[in-house]
Amino acid sequence: MFEGCEYMKNIYGLTLEDLENYFLEHGSKKFHALQLFLWLYDQRVESFDAMSNIKKEMLESLKKDFSIDRLKIVDVQEDEDVCKYLFELADGEHIEAVLMRHDYGNSICVSSQVGCNMGCKFCESGRRKKVRNLEAYEMVLQILMIEKLLGERISHVVVMGIGEPFDNYDNLLQFFQIINHPKGLAIGARHITVSTCGLVPKILEFSDFPLQINLAVSLHAPNNEIRNQIMPINKAYPIEELMRALKVYVEKTNRRLTFEYILLKDINDSDACAMELAKLVKNLNCYINLIPYNETNNIDFKRSSTVQIMRFYDILKKNSVNVTIRREFGGNISAACGQLRSKKEEL
Ligand code: SAH
Repeated sequence: MFEGCEYMKNIYGLTLEDLENYFLEHGSKKFHALQLFLWLYDQRVESFDAMSNIKKEMLESLKKDFSIDRLKIVDVQEDEDVCKYLFELADGEHIEAVLMRHDYGNSICVSSQVGCNMGCKFCESGRRKKVRNLEAYEMVLQILMIEKLLGERISHVVVMGIGEPFDNYDNLLQFFQIINHPKGLAIGARHITVSTCGLVPKILEFSDFPLQINLAVSLHAPNNEIRNQIMPINKAYPIEELMRALKVYVEKTNRRLTFEYILLKDINDSDACAMELAKLVKNLNCYINLIPYNETNNIDFKRSSTVQIMRFYDILKKNSVNVTIRREFGGNISAACGQLRSKKEEL
């Protein structure tokens, strides 16, 4: 049997290569695997029986080994150019995905875990500990099902929903291979971004991954003192270690990385923090995305004032840092990380 099979009980969790191995092992030909892949991602059929050019015996064996079930969409909230979807998984757990309409196309923010163990103090998702990792098919289906509902293509994917993607590394890479494949969802690697809170060993491993996927790192503080207070992961992988790993990543991949930096009032938004941040990222091929904090009902942190956000931005600019302020989406519909799911669970 092919490698990793126990994780691939749903057909949407298989790469084309996995399928080819499956067909070969069942005495069939490789090219039938491509036919099946096309039924799934080109024709988008929802049953094995609809795959009319695949032999009956093969279909029977596929039905025995794999489910072709989709997820359930149990809630949709729409607000201008953002739309949030709540999914129910086969075991009754809930996850969410957010669609953002940009002028360059539709972008979707997918979840990678049920709950999250990273415990960042400002983040709603981490209020619920990790229950389990998402399987690759559960990530693929977030995209496929939203495309169907929308009747439009999704061109960009960010893995920035609930969960720490690098804490679900193998399924994440499997997911990337399926959605990036030209006969799969054909989403270009440069249109895919994964965001991590800074799991150093995985960052190093990811520097050797062949697809040109963008890396974003949730930094949120310019020094260990502040970062330790808001992101427990910093105790395991302090800033110096993180920066060393990122240097390796940039050197190996030749890619520019993104730092995310949420501006939290009186915590990490002082002029001194901006100066320290500029110094920290000097000489690294990166840009900083400043994120106005999305306040939630449950957590005590406050958003920085617009004046302070602009001051912070200006200081970085003056120090030659590439910096942008993130356009805000979805404040009205609780689209910030984990908010929709937490609301559902309060009901
Ligand atoms: N675990 C990964 C990906 C999920 S979080 C990571 O930490 O990068 C995606 C981004 O949203 C992170 O930068 C996270 O810090 C940020 N975020 C979490 N809660 C937020 C909030 N209330 N307002 C704005 N950004 C938030």
